[in-house]
Amino acid sequence: MTPLPLADRYARFRDAVFSGVAEHLPGFAEPMTELQLQSLWFSGSFGSEFTTTDGRTVRIADFGEWNSGAGPDFSGCAIVIDGQTVRGDIELDSDARDWERHTHGANKHFNHVVLHLFLNAPEERFFTRTSEHHDVPQVLLQAAMLPEGITPRTRLASARMGRCALPLREMEASSVQSIIESAAQHRLDLKSRRLHRSVAAHGREQAVYQALAQTLGYRRNQQPFAILAQRLPLKKITRLDAAKREAWLFGVSGFLEGVRSEDTEPATRSYLRQLWSEWWKLRSGMGRWLDGHQLLRWQLSAIRPGNHPQRRLGALAALLRSWSAIITPLADATRWSQAAWRESLLSLSHEFWDTHYTLLAEASEKPLALIGETRVQEMLANVAYPLLVPERTRLWAEYLELPALLDNQKVRRAVLRLFGDAPRGRDFTKKLHHQQGLLQIYEDFCLEDDSACADCPFPERLKEWS
Ligand code: SF4
Repeated sequence: MTPLPLADRYARFRDAVFSGVAEHLPGFAEPMTELQLQSLWFSGSFGSEFTTTDGRTVRIADFGEWNSGAGPDFSGCAIVIDGQTVRGDIELDSDARDWERHTHGANKHFNHVVLHLFLNAPEERFFTRTSEHHDVPQVLLQAAMLPEGITPRTRLASARMGRCALPLREMEASSVQSIIESAAQHRLDLKSRRLHRSVAAHGREQAVYQALAQTLGYRRNQQPFAILAQRLPLKKITRLDAAKREAWLFGVSGFLEGVRSEDTEPATRSYLRQLWSEWWKLRSGMGRWLDGHQLLRWQLSAIRPGNHPQRRLGALAALLRSWSAIITPLADATRWSQAAWRESLLSLSHEFWDTHYTLLAEASEKPLALIGETRVQEMLANVAYPLLVPERTRLWAEYLELPALLDNQKVRRAVLRLFGDAPRGRDFTKKLHHQQGLLQIYEDFCLEDDSACADCPFPERLKEWS
């Protein structure tokens, strides 16, 4: 991959600003559940090479698959340790002692565990032993292993004009454009690094599929969409015909469980019958995913009907039917065509979801776009260009031309803090890269500041950028 010079310039500027002021380490921006950690692990976000607690190097040759039955979290994995490839299962716990607390050491289902991962460990040495008295290699996972910005930051800085608004007003417009563009490229570079870790762990197609699914989850349901795409990987799901594939998607999502046929209209009843005719055969083997802490937690409150995850899952099903058209322009940066890709996404259609918001809603009078312009824009910003720009840097010029379609609270907050009510604020929000650059500056400076701007180094250091 080719290094991106503007991204590098912004990173050096930011890190110089923070040197001696605060430690700028990647990490968990917010507390995470075990399910979220498992998803991060499986996506390859922690990397694939580690040092065990007894000092040996271990490489993950195959991340395996999420286990839907009794036993460890991941099965069918392969690790390379002491020069030997060892196949078996992987277990991830919040704390090393969970192995004994949850009696895994006495459970024969855990006898094939080849690697025990955890985030916390006691001070005294703790051993992971199976019921057959095998000593299992251990790896302590740390937040610092994760690429920067891996977890979205939901905190908001206060809504008021910041101390940097005055110097930003007085700066040459070209210098303001330059810092925003550089911050945008840095943001794209971070997304690219995260996506390419996933490519390294699972291959290009699976990484793209997972990233697109995540984008369909919007902000609040990204995690369940990512886990769904991990539990039902392409290699498994594209082998199925469309009806079976859809039954798996809706069944594993948990959406079929709470819907009573008698509460639905005739068209939905017939669709449900079609899904259940496949799902009932599979359901018993997936019990682990439909219960307790392994159940996907969908955020359904304050969601617009058009963004409901059931409808977005319908869009994912349609996207998988047209998978070849979706992946071909991304398979190789020299074959990229924004127009063709955009058209493939905008023309997706589904006989049920074209006219339904949810499984319980009545049919709409007119067909609704399954994937609209704004979602395509998000997919371009979060999947296509982060994948392709480092492979073909001339695509950066194409990225710079993308208009800003998404209006969100974070962008509005960033504009208010950095520009106040100056007209300049409007000039620098017209393009997608403007928004992305402002968000990056906002996250790097405003969200790091606890002094109501008083100690923020950004305003003084701006003149060095000029
Ligand atoms: S925290 Fe820094 S970057 Fe954010 S508004 Fe205040 S001065 Fe500007």
